[in-house]
Amino acid sequence: MSRFAGKTLEHLTPYTPGEQPRDMQYIKLNTNESPFPPSGKAQTAAAEAGARLQLYPDPTCRALHEAFAASVGVSPDCVLATNGSDEILNFAFMAFCDESTPAAFADITYGFYEVFAELNRVPYRKIPLNADFTLPIEEFCKNDATLFIANPNAPTGIALSREEIERILQANPDRLVLIDEAYVDFGGESCIPLIKKYDNLLVTQTFSKSRSMAGARLGFGVASPALIADLNTIKYSTNPYNINSMTMAAGLGVLADEEYTRANCRTVIENRDYLTAALEEFGFLVLPSRTNFIFARHPRISGEEMYRRLRESGILVRHFTAPRIADFNRITVGARADMETLVKTVQKILEETT
Ligand code: PMP
Repeated sequence: MSRFAGKTLEHLTPYTPGEQPRDMQYIKLNTNESPFPPSGKAQTAAAEAGARLQLYPDPTCRALHEAFAASVGVSPDCVLATNGSDEILNFAFMAFCDESTPAAFADITYGFYEVFAELNRVPYRKIPLNADFTLPIEEFCKNDATLFIANPNAPTGIALSREEIERILQANPDRLVLIDEAYVDFGGESCIPLIKKYDNLLVTQTFSKSRSMAGARLGFGVASPALIADLNTIKYSTNPYNINSMTMAAGLGVLADEEYTRANCRTVIENRDYLTAALEEFGFLVLPSRTNFIFARHPRISGEEMYRRLRESGILVRHFTAPRIADFNRITVGARADMETLVKTVQKILEETT
């Protein structure tokens, strides 16, 4: 740290993104990216927008907001596009938390919640997941903190039903509840239909997973117009041009090709079923996933060793060192051929370590 660093930096451990090594060609199953390229419509639209990059993008994102709002069945004043959903998570910490409005989230969940709490100097409480990694709903019903809930959760992949989220919303009438639906398109149940009923609900989604646009950085918040107005105040106080022209065009292209997205999600779900069954056959515990990844551990081989051996064989998965989950690895569900290679490699590793 330099001698000029402020107090915030003293406590801040930044988020560690999944590794993106360039030393060799890996099968990359560590950052939950889509194995499929973005829709051709998105690619063409982005290239066309590239020819007009001398101009600032539309700060109101009007066309994109209208198209996304139509796709999720809300009005355009209920949505806000952001630079990846990470940006809207940060906006939410800035807008809806402070010294006297703490945050709460699960002990095992998306690591950025803690980073944003530290960055914004927001007091926070971590609520331990149950022993089976499900969310202890009652602990999230105390009406005493802004809640951040990934649904489905990451890295566990486990989802709550809409009714369960509704219980949490009802029990926290004076608190904002953010439901992070980064992975909802792979079998989860979206809470977007609840925004009309609950003025304390903010739903976030991303184009990084099901829509194959991780490189473009596009996310959305969906909530009542009043909450969106608050988030806009943060946006216009930080980066009014948060969505660049090429991403905006690509986003519109993706939204004009919904069947492509749906077909890719179906393939991922099929491949997830295949991978889950194969790993269970080898004796793995695989948590029930509603996402494009699985979270699995083997009784005989540590998570760290499995991670290392897979890496040596050219397959990258994500290993976390937090004690409760150190025996697990998070494995992105990719193309069928990559899943078959993974299964064969795991089998070989298990044979070598008997
Ligand atoms: N929420 C969760 C639960 C995630 O796993 C991720 C991906 N790292 C994000 C949000 C952010 O994704 P992005 O910024 O690419 O939209």
